[in-house]
Amino acid sequence: MVSRTAGFITISKEGRGGMQYEIKTIYQKYLMTVNCYLLKTPSGFILIDTGLPKRRSDLVRELETAGCKPGDLKLIVITHGHLDHNGNTAYLREKYDAKVAMHGGDSAMVESGDMFRGVKGLTVAIVRIMLPLVGMSRYDCFKPDIALEDGRDLSEYGFDARVVHVPGHSKGSIGVLTAEGDLFCGDILGNTDKPAKTTIVDDSVELDASVERLKTLGIRTVYPGHGKPFRMDQYAGGLGVQ
Ligand SMILES: [Zn+2]
Ligand SMILES: [Zn+2]
Repeated sequence: MVSRTAGFITISKEGRGGMQYEIKTIYQKYLMTVNCYLLKTPSGFILIDTGLPKRRSDLVRELETAGCKPGDLKLIVITHGHLDHNGNTAYLREKYDAKVAMHGGDSAMVESGDMFRGVKGLTVAIVRIMLPLVGMSRYDCFKPDIALEDGRDLSEYGFDARVVHVPGHSKGSIGVLTAEGDLFCGDILGNTDKPAKTTIVDDSVELDASVERLKTLGIRTVYPGHGKPFRMDQYAGGLGVQ
């Protein structure tokens, strides 16, 4: 059953006892758009990605409006190391005394505050020059508290979900797949125009393998880092920009 109250969509278990959760999309816009997702579970809140550094006060206000106070945020899950998903990670960890969990494949990026660490090429050089112009040169570095690997069960945080490692957009990209079939996918898939695979590629072979794997996991709804949620069966295999 799905119902909507105060910005949250409630996902209830059908025919099974146990935990339900509510999903609040925190949409941010500052020259680009990105989504963070706040999950309300019976034992507290989980935040997936932390968004744009220029939208910090908006994000804090959204958490407060949702009733998430310091001590209530059990976990911050980072889908991957890119700046637009990590602009407030270090800040929120400190403010909310929350643990930060992500895959080790992207930890060098976040520990250096440089999403292009080790990546070369003309496009990267141009983007490095452009980012400060939009106020996004580097982000606050942080060291993740928890290294997530494929299959990691998050139920110890009150959230009946598991980690799916989906490299290709970055080495450490992950999705979070709930028992109900909701996937928080970071940037591997997006829906800014239509449901599509990312065009920003770290490794195209890995990316294709990750997308093929997602098709086999019984995913119902995809909550992307960019764009609106969509049903997995709406994804036809095309390309998009995330
Ligand atoms: Zn990304
Ligand atoms: Zn992104």
